Amino acid sequence: MKKIYLDYAAATPMAEEVEAAMRPYLSGMFHNPSATYLSGRAARHGLDRIRGRIAAQLGARPAEVVFTAGATEANNLAIQGLMKRYPQGEALVSAIEHESVLAPAGLFAHKRIPVDEWGRIILNKLSILITDKTVLISVMLVNNELGTIQPLRDIAEIIAQVRDERKKRGVGSPLYLHTDAAQAGNYLDLHAARLGVDMMTINGGKLYGPKQSGALFIKAGIKLEPLILGGGQEFGLRSGTENIAAGAGLAAALELAAAQRQAETSRVMALRRLFEEEIRERRPDTVINGGQNGRAPHIVSLTVPGADNERLMMELDEAGIECAVGSACSASREEASHVLSAIGLDEETARATLRFSLGRQSTEADIRKTVRQLAVLTDGNR
Ligand code: PLP
Repeated sequence: MKKIYLDYAAATPMAEEVEAAMRPYLSGMFHNPSATYLSGRAARHGLDRIRGRIAAQLGARPAEVVFTAGATEANNLAIQGLMKRYPQGEALVSAIEHESVLAPAGLFAHKRIPVDEWGRIILNKLSILITDKTVLISVMLVNNELGTIQPLRDIAEIIAQVRDERKKRGVGSPLYLHTDAAQAGNYLDLHAARLGVDMMTINGGKLYGPKQSGALFIKAGIKLEPLILGGGQEFGLRSGTENIAAGAGLAAALELAAAQRQAETSRVMALRRLFEEEIRERRPDTVINGGQNGRAPHIVSLTVPGADNERLMMELDEAGIECAVGSACSASREEASHVLSAIGLDEETARATLRFSLGRQSTEADIRKTVRQLAVLTDGNR
C-alpha cells in the first residue's frame, strides 16, 4: 500500500539536488576549515561560498548568517543570546510560538502577545505590552499548527515608531524583532529587509534539506551572547567544527525552494482548497482553524466535532494516511495544544483537531483519498 504522507510541517524528504550538493563534503572534501594547509583552506573557501549563497537568499551579508543545527538551536541563540546581554530587559513572544521560542523566553522576564481567533497577533495589544524594558519581540512568520501568517511588516513599523520615540526621550535600550521562519521558506519570501526583521530562524529540515541544518540571520550590529563556547567558530557565536555538508544542503534547499516557490504555492494552495471543499461537503460540521485568508498554503488544521484526534490519527495511519495531532515537534502529548487554546478552542475541541500538512509529493488523488477515508472513519456523508 502506497502511503499518503500529510505531515510535511513535521519533516520533509530530502530533495535529490540537496543530497547531491552535500555529497562532496561528506567524503572527498572532509577537511576541517580551520586547518591551514591547502585542503583546509579549500574547505574554508567552500564554507564561505555556501554562507554567501544562503545570505543571498535572505537578502543578507555573509557575516549576518550563523549556521545552527536546525531551528531549535537558532531560536535559542536568538532569544537566550540577546536576553543574556540585557539582564534587565524583557521579551515579548506571541502566545502561539513553537516551544523552542517559548522555553528559552521562559528563562527571562517575558510576556506573551495574545492572538485573535484566527491565530494572528493582536497589534494593539502588542503596542500596549511594549515598555522601555522591552528589548526583543519574537513572532513567527508562519504558525506550524494553523499556518497563520503573522503581520511582520506591521510589527516592524510599530518597532520603528518605538525606536524613534525612545531616541527622543533618550531611552538607551534597543528593540529587536526576531522571527522563526521555520515553516515559511517553501512558500514565502525570506528576504530579511523586506520582512522587516532583525533576526530570523531558518530550518533546513522543513525545506527538503537535511535535518539539524539551519541558520540564524543576525542583522549587522546586533550582539549576542554565545550559547556554545569553544574554538570560536561562527564568529564566536557557535563553537565546534563546521558541518559544511549540512550548510551545502541548506544552501541548495533554499535555492530550490526559491525556484519552486511560486509554482508550488499555487499548486499546494489548489490542493488545500480541494481538501477543504471536499471535507466540508462530506462533513459540513467540520471547522478549518486559522481563517480563510492569510494562511500558508500547506497546513490544514481540521476540527471534526466529536472525534478523538489520537484515535482518528491512528485509524488514518492504519489506512496508510499519515497526519499529525497538533504539532509533531512537541514531545509532550499530555496537554492540549497551547496554540489551539490560544485561539480559544476548549480542550474537547482541541482534542478533536488534526493537522494535515501538504508538500511537494502531495497529489490530488492523495487528497481525495484522504477526505474519503476521513468521511468513512468519522461517519460522514459518503
Ligand atoms: N519552529 C517551528 C515553527 C517549527 O515548526 C519547528 C519544528 O517543527 C521548530 C521551530 C523546530 O525545528 P527543529 O526541531 O528542526 O529544530
